[in-house]
Amino acid sequence: MKQERIYYKDVIALGFTETQSDDSVYLQQYGFPYCIVEKELTPTVHLEWTKETGFCSKITIDNKEDGNIIEKVEVKNLGELKRIVEEYENKIGLLPCPFCGGKCETEKSESGDNPTTYYRVNCENEHSLDWWEEDEQIAIQVWNKRPSKQ
Ligand SMILES: [Zn+2]
Repeated sequence: MKQERIYYKDVIALGFTETQSDDSVYLQQYGFPYCIVEKELTPTVHLEWTKETGFCSKITIDNKEDGNIIEKVEVKNLGELKRIVEEYENKIGLLPCPFCGGKCETEKSESGDNPTTYYRVNCENEHSLDWWEEDEQIAIQVWNKRPSKQ
């Protein structure tokens, strides 16, 4: 599979963000600052675009704390990249928190003797659904329809 170059303006249009780090060694070696251009799809899956090559990869990590890479898949071209982004946006589709506008994530719970997995939605400022749903999509739908408290 040959990877095609994807342009900066196209990844930015898809919601990628650029984070520069001040790595002076890197700056001296390459003449431009080290940066990460990426888009988070879920807390453990993100897309990474490399400035040097214009190539994009989909990266799965084990969890945010360790950040060990489980899988790295090359994204062939812009068409495929758009399809991946759409797929995840439809699947995740979480609206911002109705209380504070914060970013949200689904939380998974597998409690004790009960083998059922439950889901709920939390925002970065600790607002959450008051109950758990057995289906992640339903938890998301409930969250998205939630009226904001006055
Ligand atoms: Zn909130």
